[in-house]
Amino acid sequence: MVNAEQTSAPTPRSVDSRLDHSYATVDAPRSVQMHTEAEALLPAADGVVVAISYCGVCATDTHGYTSGGLIPPSVFGHEWTGTVTAVGADVTSVTVGTRVVACVGPACGSCPQCLAGNSSNCDTAFAEANGITADAPNHGGFSSEIAVNARRVMAVLDGLTDEQAAIVEPTTVTFHAVKRTGQGIGSFVVVQGAGPIGLLTAQHARHAGAGRVLVIEPSEARRQTARDLGFTEVYAPGEETTALVFSSSNGLGADVLYECTGVAGLFQSSAELVRRGGTLSLLGYPMSSSEVSYPDWQSRELTVIGSLAYNHEDFAGAMLAIRSGAVNVDILHTGTVGLAELPAILAELDSGKSSHSKVLVDPRR
Ligand SMILES: [Zn+2]
Ligand SMILES: [Zn+2]
Repeated sequence: MVNAEQTSAPTPRSVDSRLDHSYATVDAPRSVQMHTEAEALLPAADGVVVAISYCGVCATDTHGYTSGGLIPPSVFGHEWTGTVTAVGADVTSVTVGTRVVACVGPACGSCPQCLAGNSSNCDTAFAEANGITADAPNHGGFSSEIAVNARRVMAVLDGLTDEQAAIVEPTTVTFHAVKRTGQGIGSFVVVQGAGPIGLLTAQHARHAGAGRVLVIEPSEARRQTARDLGFTEVYAPGEETTALVFSSSNGLGADVLYECTGVAGLFQSSAELVRRGGTLSLLGYPMSSSEVSYPDWQSRELTVIGSLAYNHEDFAGAMLAIRSGAVNVDILHTGTVGLAELPAILAELDSGKSSHSKVLVDPRR
């Protein structure tokens, strides 16, 4: 183990010539450790080894960084894609050379949820999404390679670039949320927040048949990205925007509001933009509790949808949405850095002053 400053990026290599196994972990608040091990990884009998092409940096990683690792180790770097370099004896789903994205397996059929008939809430897939299975690796995709259970990978849909494949995971998170919300065709949708999750959600909502999509975002750079994606109703938060939501809907408010900021203090004001009988869909993950008006939510008969991660089949849906052009992920990709630059980019993202949307880490740099 050495400090980040003392470590140079791993030597570029091809899929066939596995060299050192280099990876990053968080060991204390705002401290990233770089590790290099001489031996390449070996797959378990039911596992695969993947040479990482890219791993996206997300708000969860920034939280893992600032909190000193209060997320499971394999979740620090969970938006990865790469090429299978080795497969275990029992693996039939992929072969050496298959391009894959990190995913969760299908419903296992044997956990308490599956046995009760609740396969869409499979405990095994939930544990995989949260990095808490017994065989979860001790690091995530900020790594030259990773060894995981074969359930944790899905072949990349033909036609997707490696950069697009690296943004499949957040595209799947948002696909899952819009699917769970059951938004009706023609709905008036408001998206609160235009970071990567908000911009992906807005696109899925449009793809799912929204009549209108109104985006609320304080950053002008992010508002411009929303406009570049073809959204015409893009506004800064404030009284004028609130008034517009109502004046443009005959006083009703939004049929559906997707909360994509994760700012706990916004939950009540977001709920107040939803019409009576409408739906508040929660995607942004708050790091603190929030005070909301229970009587308001109850008396206005709001439907509240919680959404976390995804099911196996959502990955296929997300990749199809990218390939069809319904969801543009290219516009979200604002930078690529090497593994050694990860601590600096996490510090930048944590500062709140970064203009980046989605940064990819390329461990081959
Ligand atoms: Zn993420
Ligand atoms: Zn199960």
